[in-house]
Amino acid sequence: MADRLAGKVALITGGASGIGRQAGLLFASEGAKLVIADVDGAAAERTAAEVRARGGTAEAVACDVACSEDVRSAVDRAERSYGALHVLFNNAGIFPAEDGSPVETPEAVFDRVLAVNTKGVFLGCKHGIPALLRAGGGSIVNTASFVAVLGAATSQVAYTASKGAVLAMTREIAIEYARRGIRANALCPGPVNTPLLAELLASPEARQRRLVHVPMGRLAEPIEVARAALFLASEESSYVNGTTFLVDGGITAAYVTPE
Ligand code: NAD
Repeated sequence: MADRLAGKVALITGGASGIGRQAGLLFASEGAKLVIADVDGAAAERTAAEVRARGGTAEAVACDVACSEDVRSAVDRAERSYGALHVLFNNAGIFPAEDGSPVETPEAVFDRVLAVNTKGVFLGCKHGIPALLRAGGGSIVNTASFVAVLGAATSQVAYTASKGAVLAMTREIAIEYARRGIRANALCPGPVNTPLLAELLASPEARQRRLVHVPMGRLAEPIEVARAALFLASEESSYVNGTTFLVDGGITAAYVTPE
């Protein structure tokens, strides 16, 4: 085991799958004690069991991040089980297929996406920041997306709006708590090879429509994003605060991509 998060306690929302699951395995291998929170409690337990099987420390909680009481309980669990909370990785998110242009997106879909992707981050901070302050400080990593800074003709208006809000909210939190030992950064992945994108990229045409804009010509693997989350969570990023931390293979730097 390495020790980049030795002695730290981390809460990871959406920790049952994709980026969150890889972050859980990685954070634990670096010495963190974990609470894996996910709306799919059984899948969260599977990730926690995987961490424990590798010699790490993890508990799972069933938690809908859009529900204040669930999030409060997840934070409580970290403090009751391990005595403190130092790292808050607000990573849970949804990307429903019905999310499209403003004209076609049903209002209920817009509301649910904002409830999970934006209010979920707000609730994580609402209940998590007092715990971080009790611990003497810590690191907040909020998962936004590259779509928070770039528009696309393949629109997904609710998702894009929800992630733009995460970016703005993260900046404000970063400034407000900067002198009280808390850093906050928005992790902005490009397209990642996880179940979230699987439906969208199911057809070769849909996949190619997007990959043509990725200079590296491929999706990210979840571990490549988890490594960035580890940097932001750990003291290695001690002077990194309020950033739009892009892990996008160069998408936002590109005008024309290679043939
Ligand atoms: P994923 O679908 O593999 O994992 C998301 C996890 O969040 C799942 O385990 C799911 O059960 C959980 N979840 C969903 N709703 C929840 C809720 N209400 N409460 C608690 N947990 C909930 O997806 P992923 O790609 O690993 O996504 C992780 C984050 O990264 C999301 O915020 C997503 O928007 C963001 N992101 C993903 C991509 C991508 O291309 N995959 C790109 C940019 C940003």
